[in-house]
Amino acid sequence: HRFCAALPKAELHAHLHGCARLDTVRELAPPGVDKAELRNTSEVGQNDRSLDACFAIFGAIHKTVTTLAAVRRITREVLSDFAADGVKYLELRTTPRTLADADVEGYVRALLAEVASFEAEQVAQGISWPMTVRLLLSVDRSGDTAKAMVTVQLATRLRAELGCIVGVDFSGNPTRSSFEHFREAFEAARLAGLRVAVHVGEVNAPEDTAAVIDFRPERLGHALLLSTHDLKRLRERPIPIELCPTSNLKTLQLNELESHPTLTTWLAEGYPVSISTDDSTVFDTTSSRELALAAMACHLSVEEIAQLAQAPLAHAFDPDMAAMDRLRRRFEDACAAA
Ligand code: IMP
Repeated sequence: HRFCAALPKAELHAHLHGCARLDTVRELAPPGVDKAELRNTSEVGQNDRSLDACFAIFGAIHKTVTTLAAVRRITREVLSDFAADGVKYLELRTTPRTLADADVEGYVRALLAEVASFEAEQVAQGISWPMTVRLLLSVDRSGDTAKAMVTVQLATRLRAELGCIVGVDFSGNPTRSSFEHFREAFEAARLAGLRVAVHVGEVNAPEDTAAVIDFRPERLGHALLLSTHDLKRLRERPIPIELCPTSNLKTLQLNELESHPTLTTWLAEGYPVSISTDDSTVFDTTSSRELALAAMACHLSVEEIAQLAQAPLAHAFDPDMAAMDRLRRRFEDACAAA
């Protein structure tokens, strides 16, 4: 773990509210929110983190983070926490929603303002290797298609105005609705030049998975429950997969990473994967810890761990090739020195 903590890391799959500090969420919780849902982090490991339990927690967090000031505060803290863990490139994702004092656009603008002020502060503090932050806007599959289209339009317009936004994500309760139902919104996103990441295969949903693979998003989230046919298609034309070891274990209700359905196979085959946290608070984890867990489960050498830490850069959505080249070189140098 200490070796992983010392490595530079690129985190590609982190949901803002699932990473909000627990202490802050508890502090913000108004009377009436079930604080039992917001248990102490030390208990998290033992607690139920089935999909249903996770979505109850997201609901409770959303009920406590209800103002622009609260969104700005959790954003600031999430950025600080990833930076403190040695993350040098972060793609944070969030589902735009209305707040007590803002509409969806106000929500996204507040986030972008917080990212900009975080980046400016890193420079002002003379931090030698500041963390790059990029944003994905999420479409919630339990919402409606009109809302999805608003999210895509917002991502397109605010990216043109302010940069930072690099893509869109499809997430939310995997037992609800289908990708096909939202396909038009993702086609619009693609047409606008946004990259697309799609959650898939969190539950057994063969038709949904086939439709997602047909669409060929730039990245897949989780992709855990795949048929032989899906596996064949992905091996023939790989789509990079974001794996979230602890999250995957908990939501599939497995006991150890050795029984993860794809992790060891993908790594052994050299399939393009990135190791991520998903929801660092809900799953009580960090990017370093997830990297260490994957490394232990797959018995990786230090060289292989360093390679795994750098792997996400090849799947990053930032379209600035020159900046990504510089970042890759910096990762190589830092990994070689570690
Ligand atoms: P937010 O988008 O910043 O509000 O972050 C929390 C949201 O991310 C949740 O309400 C879900 O829609 C989504 N999310 C977080 N973790 C998962 C997951 O494991 N599967 C699917 N969706 C998720």
